[in-house]
Amino acid sequence: MLYWQGDLDMNYLWIAISALFPAYLFFSFQILDKTDFLLESASFILLTTIYLFGRTTLEYTVKLGLLSLMICESYEFLEEVYQFQSFINSNALVDIFVGDVLALLGLALIAYGIHNMFRRQRRMAEIEPLTNTFNKRAIEQLSKKELERSLRYMTETSMILVDIDHFKQVNDVYGHQVGDRVLVIVAEHLRKQIRGYDLLARWGGDEFIILCPSTSQSEVEEVMTRLQKSLPLPIQDAHFDVTLSIGGTTVLPMAENQFERLFFQADKALYKVKNNGRNNRCHFHDLSYDL
Ligand code: GH3
Ligand code: MG
Repeated sequence: MLYWQGDLDMNYLWIAISALFPAYLFFSFQILDKTDFLLESASFILLTTIYLFGRTTLEYTVKLGLLSLMICESYEFLEEVYQFQSFINSNALVDIFVGDVLALLGLALIAYGIHNMFRRQRRMAEIEPLTNTFNKRAIEQLSKKELERSLRYMTETSMILVDIDHFKQVNDVYGHQVGDRVLVIVAEHLRKQIRGYDLLARWGGDEFIILCPSTSQSEVEEVMTRLQKSLPLPIQDAHFDVTLSIGGTTVLPMAENQFERLFFQADKALYKVKNNGRNNRCHFHDLSYDL
């Protein structure tokens, strides 16, 4: 007894239908070149299978490309049926369009679609989905390139660490969903205040990291002031203000462990702000007088 299991069984049905059509032609008509006919039919069935099983996952352009190639293949095997010869050979323009142009277009669409799929996948692997900022792994990777460049051009690099104050309380008092909304608003706020080529990432929990290539101490202090000055952030429908603690640092280019050095120093500066009552900013340079 045959049970229909939704889409999967329908796929097999469509594949069977796509195979029945050339089989019917093969046994009912005179085939000029049997080998060619069978090869073109097999390609047609293969393309149909890929199309059907990839329907929900493939990019729109890949699907269009597959459809174009399926039309080409069916045209190619029809060419081998003696009874269709006069119909097919009567129009050279159709022959060029279906046989050649459509095949090229199909391949181009598939190539473009696959390229897009990989690009999107790569981007998704770099992004932290809640705040739409880079994730920890991505910023570590991207920073490597920036720090190599800073060494080549001998420019200073700065880093800023931002931590939301008493964020646990927000979760505890208003719930996790409001907490999530706060994270999104803070990320948007940070993005608006930094330059296009600064790198912003969620480092984890309620902590964000910003890498500022070619940025001196005075410049990064200006950025930190901007991040702080526009606070407290009002949160819609919630009766509390969000404040941030910000630690920053600036280092000259060095051959090794530059990221670790930047992070260590910015973290020290942030720790100082937290210890001194939060809702403030500190550059590591000022901290070094205290050490
Ligand atoms: P401090 O001022 O010292 O930074 O205190 P805090 O409460 O902000 O810091 P703490 O590290 O104690 O708490 C961070 C909280 O962030 C704890 C955790 O439940 C929460 N958190 C981490 N990730 C998420 C998330 O994705 N969504 C939400 N809503 N909360 C998160
Ligand atoms: Mg916090």
